[in-house]
Amino acid sequence: MGLSKTIWTNPTEFLRVEQPVNPVLFFAPTVVQASARRFIDGFPGLVTYAVKSNPTEEVIDNLAAAGVRGYDCASGFEIDLIRRLAPDAAIHYNNPVRARHEILYAVERGVKSYSVDSNSELAKLIELVPAEGTEISVRFKLPVAGAAYNFGAKFGATAELAVELLKTVAEAGFIPSLTFHPGTQCTDPHAWQSYIEKAAWIAEEAGVVIARLNVGGGFPNHRLNGVVPQLEETFRLIDRVTGEAFGDNRPLLVCEPGRAMCGDAFTLAARVKSVRDGEHVFLNDGVYGSLAELPLIGVIDRIEVLSPEGEKRSGELTPRIIFGPTCDSVDRLPGEVMLPDDLAEGDYVVVQGMGAYSVVTNSRFNGFGELGLATVLSQRV
Ligand SMILES: *Cc1c(COP(=O)(O)O)cnc(C)c1O
Repeated sequence: MGLSKTIWTNPTEFLRVEQPVNPVLFFAPTVVQASARRFIDGFPGLVTYAVKSNPTEEVIDNLAAAGVRGYDCASGFEIDLIRRLAPDAAIHYNNPVRARHEILYAVERGVKSYSVDSNSELAKLIELVPAEGTEISVRFKLPVAGAAYNFGAKFGATAELAVELLKTVAEAGFIPSLTFHPGTQCTDPHAWQSYIEKAAWIAEEAGVVIARLNVGGGFPNHRLNGVVPQLEETFRLIDRVTGEAFGDNRPLLVCEPGRAMCGDAFTLAARVKSVRDGEHVFLNDGVYGSLAELPLIGVIDRIEVLSPEGEKRSGELTPRIIFGPTCDSVDRLPGEVMLPDDLAEGDYVVVQGMGAYSVVTNSRFNGFGELGLATVLSQRV
């Protein structure tokens, strides 16, 4: 059996010793705890975690240990997960479209905060949820750029409809709040400014003093070597603009980051199955596995290649087409990826910043997707 460990020093040590044939995601608890502390120390309000981005139990345990006291859930499964792992935490049920049985399930479990973006869904909430002490946040959208893809395409009322919904929420006796999501991997802090100013306009038009403003997720994680997220700058902007826009009616702030909380806490190691005729690189992981997001929001360039002995490949960087393991031709990483020219079959391609929308979107398509998970002290390869 050889060396048996539960916590590894870093991904390199694991790869050298185990030589895994399946893809492995390495989780560093210290990194997720540091992300949580960064939000708790810097964000001017309540920090909650968007469970969908990575519902791995170790992630939730570490966030809870670091002091995260609220969770954004979208399903009964996620509600139960949080009730079990963080029993005293607040649950915000912020999926704005729910079946009636889902609403009743949440009510039975004591959920006191819901979001909504339409008259039809608000009518269901008013019918099924006791108003006393319960918050309903109206989710609105704006046509603003800055994020990796447009979240407003699915959810969010127009500002005009939000005015109408907010009035109805207040009249029905619920605690009235507003919420938005500027779009995931949003690297432009000014997106938050536009949304916060519009939120103040909506509250003013509705004649409602809102209790809380939830400024969403969308905070970026570190995907490109040249673009290091400046979260503190965004936190300061959110604080300042909220004060300026709302004046005496300043609401409490809430954020619900997913990606920025878990993204940098995981590193992926995928193995080179083949360099087909010296040209195309085939990995044992791809867009049906933990790399599902890359065609949607672009590649990560925080990549290193290790030999099976754990030596870093240091050849000249050359553009390569990378395919995943399935027989589907969609299973290809977007564009070309710069990789060292001494890369060889059996090497490991190690990608940093892989914690969000990876573990959870991995599928077993074509019989692949047997993803390993290992805990490491450090992500440094
Ligand atoms: C997905 C989601 C989030 C998290 O988004 P990130 O871009 O991962 O931060 C937050 N709030 C809601 C309502 C979501 O659906």
